[in-house]
Amino acid sequence: MSNYIFVAGGVMSSVGKGASTASIAKMLESRGFKTTAVKIDPYINVDAGTMNPIEHGEVFVTDDGTECDQDIGNYERFLNQDIGSDNYMTTGGVYLSVIQKERNLGFDGKCVEVVPDIPNEVISRIKKVGKNTKSDFVLIEIGGTVGEYQNQLFLEAARMMKLQHPKKTLFVLVTYLPTIKTIGEMKTKPTQTSARLLNEAGIQADFILGRASVPLDEPRKRKISIFCNLDQKDVISAPDVDSIYEIPLNFEKEGLGGRILKKLNLKSKKKNFEEWENLVATIKKEKPSVKIGIVGKYFESGEFSLTDAYISVIEAVKHACWANNREPVIEWLSAQKFENNDEYLEKIKGYDGIIVPGGFGVRGIEGKIKVIKYCRENKVPYFGLCLGMQLATIEFARNVCGIKEATSREFDSSIKDPVIDIMEEQKSLLKNKDYGGTMRLGSWECSIKQGTKSFKAYGKETIQERHRHRYEFNNNHRKILEKNGLVLAGLNNTKDLVEIIELKNHPFFVGVQFHPELKSRPLAPHPLFVEFIKASIANAHL
Ligand code: GLN
Repeated sequence: MSNYIFVAGGVMSSVGKGASTASIAKMLESRGFKTTAVKIDPYINVDAGTMNPIEHGEVFVTDDGTECDQDIGNYERFLNQDIGSDNYMTTGGVYLSVIQKERNLGFDGKCVEVVPDIPNEVISRIKKVGKNTKSDFVLIEIGGTVGEYQNQLFLEAARMMKLQHPKKTLFVLVTYLPTIKTIGEMKTKPTQTSARLLNEAGIQADFILGRASVPLDEPRKRKISIFCNLDQKDVISAPDVDSIYEIPLNFEKEGLGGRILKKLNLKSKKKNFEEWENLVATIKKEKPSVKIGIVGKYFESGEFSLTDAYISVIEAVKHACWANNREPVIEWLSAQKFENNDEYLEKIKGYDGIIVPGGFGVRGIEGKIKVIKYCRENKVPYFGLCLGMQLATIEFARNVCGIKEATSREFDSSIKDPVIDIMEEQKSLLKNKDYGGTMRLGSWECSIKQGTKSFKAYGKETIQERHRHRYEFNNNHRKILEKNGLVLAGLNNTKDLVEIIELKNHPFFVGVQFHPELKSRPLAPHPLFVEFIKASIANAHL
């Protein structure tokens, strides 16, 4: 049977529960245990596919086509492991399956109740993950903050798990310790309150991870130990770090790994942190930089600039930079600013490479197309991801092939034969407003044409990549675009779909219909990103 470690958060959101969960998982994996991680999102949304990326961050997609929270991406990146749909659940998804079971008389006529039937469903899902993945450890991150109504039933499930398996269940509380500038002291009270709120749910934290700008000192640890009812050794310092990949090593230094094993009566199988230590050393060492611009629209939130919507893209760029011994410098360029301002285009000169990532809807489209035209004409390395590939196709059709009206049906539903059209099977779905979980999702095979940049990057003919889209390259336009020099470098042969486009006489101009960023890992950087960064480095020297 697996061991289960629940991770909950206190004080406020965004303190790094996901990175903490992934880091604990990594630490246990490095000690020779088979480890996986589950994310619980306390939303009514059945999956993350219908959530706005500005509000909820990136929608991560697994190989098996689940649209889930970005934390699943963290787990995959830390564990260098593909994670499946069972590792993600939402309130909506849990209720949906309980209600479906009730409709199928799966409860044999008994009254179905919120407690215990909902927590029981949660527990059975968690156990299923442990069993199917044959894991020694299952980490379960409960989204939200203790004290909220929204995640109560998940905490209830955690409490029930402890009751069922007291020797195999642990609780970690991640809190935040603010330091008020004018007073200059790190305050523990919010942490104390959070630990009590967790107690109210019938749970005693086995560990408290104290997130703060600096490490927790002895008096702070002592206070938390006394007031939150746990051994001082189990109060773990989690200061801000330059790179989240440092966290597993910091936790290990704080003795967290050993303490977890001690509580569960387990011994390390082997200890191997070497690969990870080397990675962190590469990240931290001084190296020349490469400057990448990302042209998007999901990072503006009032006065703030958020990067969560593009987290996998950012991580993939970083992985590829580290693989090329470069310091990544990533900047945000607002697509709309390029629309009516040709001078602004000159800004592109300041970047070694440009990425147009995925996106939906018409806002910002013309700005992105202008940037792509600039990159094509001025030989700036360009990497288009999903929407970025579709827009590169449109730009090429308009400005090279002379198809002035070229666009996507997504932006103009009345157009007759757009270069980017809706996929056949999507038509009825959209008509019936059947939006949830119905895009072309998950891993699909793609054949790469020899002699292309993509072939050089992948070094093989058949690849699998993850998708999330409803529109695609319209095959009616293949001939004319190819005749004008567009290289169709990757095809899905079963469905006859164009998956990769390239340009020949350009240092790097590649557009992919899939999301390669989702498969990039720090220990296994994505080959297309690695090639893109190589070209960007070469461009920087010009
Ligand atoms: N909006 C486009 C489509 O649905 C692109 C999607 C994306 O970039 N993920 O096809």
